[in-house]
Amino acid sequence: MTVPYDLPQFADEADADRRWWILGLGALSLDLVSALAGDRPLSAAEKDLLDGLEQSRGPSYYSDILYAITHRYFSPDDAEDHWRAILHHKFELSGTLGRNVRIVVAALDYLSNITAHMDSATLVDEEHLDGIVELSLRDGLTDLFNHTYFYQQIDFEVRRYVRYGTPVSLVLIDIDDFKAVNDTFGHRQGDMILAAMGRKLMSVSREADVCCRYGGEEFAVILPMTDVTEAGAIAVRLNRELAERLPDGRVVTVSIGVASCGTKTGTSRDLVERADAALYQVKRSGKNRVLVDAGVDAGPEAGG
Ligand code: GH3
Ligand code: MG
Ligand code: MG
Repeated sequence: MTVPYDLPQFADEADADRRWWILGLGALSLDLVSALAGDRPLSAAEKDLLDGLEQSRGPSYYSDILYAITHRYFSPDDAEDHWRAILHHKFELSGTLGRNVRIVVAALDYLSNITAHMDSATLVDEEHLDGIVELSLRDGLTDLFNHTYFYQQIDFEVRRYVRYGTPVSLVLIDIDDFKAVNDTFGHRQGDMILAAMGRKLMSVSREADVCCRYGGEEFAVILPMTDVTEAGAIAVRLNRELAERLPDGRVVTVSIGVASCGTKTGTSRDLVERADAALYQVKRSGKNRVLVDAGVDAGPEAGG
């Protein structure tokens, strides 16, 4: 795992950013924070990681630490004071009880019983919590990320592009004539096709790609660190791979629109609109192919 020393510091960072950077990339797991608080020894690599985070995040470092423990945001101003008070509380509790009181227990006692910052805290195992968060971000039929997560992530990636210039592309996929599939074979068969395409999409995508069910029979794939040329090539491959054979031998195809962040893309809405416009063009001009934004078709299969 790469160490995200370059954690962005958005003035308007959202909870999704925190979940992604702090918890998602594993920069600050509860286990690491626990070690930082002295529950177990820190390895040299962990010390380096924490030093790097402290330097890059500045005052937000303490907010991040409390976020890793509570999944709640505390402003940098408050967070450092709270963190020191929690450490002190842990030390005192441990002395009183005659055994090590772990940081998460001390934090819960401090934030709920002493400062009343957490008045309805629940005891949830971390792994279970990850499961709940994950569940709320996935679509039930295809197991792809849902619409909510899509918008969080595309927004995050486009802001990263605007700030750091890191490329990002978007692929929008719409199944061709899907209404007819339902009408001919029934909704259940339609659902099976959707689920099969979702699985295929996951299996052919790279680890960093964010595969989402964007709408009823529409998928979206966010391609971080991917320029327009590469995105076009990926889309051509998806166009080929996602085609599903029906019971009567006919094939269900998809149409694909691709757009990348560029000088004209300042917001996630711009990027989505451009990919959507490309997709619309494909639908109007015969379906089952790829169109890359700016009127340039991608790859050998495109343009037909
Ligand atoms: P086009 O090639 O222009 O995209 O034609 P289309 O028939 O795919 O597009 P249209 O928007 O007219 O219809 C989309 C269809 O997708 C209609 C709807 O019943 C079906 N659909 C949407 N969500 C689901 C779903 O969850 N399950 C099933 N089985 N069908 C769905
Ligand atoms: Mg559609
Ligand atoms: Mg469709």
